[in-house]
Amino acid sequence: MNWIDTHTHTYDPAPGQGSAAECVERALAAGVCKQIQGGVDLASIKPIWELCERYPGVVYPTIGLHPTEVKEDYAQVLEKIYAELASKNPSSPQQGRGRYVAVGEIGMDLYWDKTFVREQEEALRLQLGWAKEFRIPVVLHVRNAFEECWHILKQAQDGSLRGVFHCYSGSLEQARRVLELGFHFGIGGVLTFKNAKLPEIVKSVPLDSLVLETDSPYLAPVPYRGKPNESAYVPLVGEKLAGCLGLSLQQVAEATTANAKALFGL
Ligand SMILES: [Zn+2]
Repeated sequence: MNWIDTHTHTYDPAPGQGSAAECVERALAAGVCKQIQGGVDLASIKPIWELCERYPGVVYPTIGLHPTEVKEDYAQVLEKIYAELASKNPSSPQQGRGRYVAVGEIGMDLYWDKTFVREQEEALRLQLGWAKEFRIPVVLHVRNAFEECWHILKQAQDGSLRGVFHCYSGSLEQARRVLELGFHFGIGGVLTFKNAKLPEIVKSVPLDSLVLETDSPYLAPVPYRGKPNESAYVPLVGEKLAGCLGLSLQQVAEATTANAKALFGL
């Protein structure tokens, strides 16, 4: 069985996990054949590429400025991130190795701090424009900011914008609006948590809108909840999803892997 982790931070392992390469090896042994690294700032570029170059065809990069990293200097930081993206991605929409597969993780986060809300909105708009320019999807981080994000996405959606709400945490009604945008849902360890509302949501949306992720080292699925997460745990999320949907593990692996390949051009 082949699985894909569509959102992970393997390049930055938690204490006790060993090296990033060891995490990739454990994932491969668990059947997680591909994993997409979430970039968050300028500093994540180097470790992400080191891992991608070591594991071509297995580890893939994304690039973006995470909303909680949007500060006073965001405009200058975005300029540098744009230059890096443009240097790796050819202007033609060809697929291949050595290019960024998505702009991410980007979005809005008003959970801890609303100081830079206007800057977060501006950074999101700008980075959505990059996704259109380079014809790649976006990986969205949306926390306590669904309405704000949705309006920006709705405005930017001209039919060409694609992407995933990573670690989807919205309501059923919001899920309908995600589908209306033509976006996917990133489903991770939260699906396995007690009292999670996610099982109801995954039953109500089409299977072809779902992709699996870990967001490791955060949000480990049961029975590792509270411990460091890693890409090797994707099949645990798949198992829970299969139970929710009344499908076999094989069916869920095939469907979610095909969805991830199609969305990110892997
Ligand atoms: Zn992340």
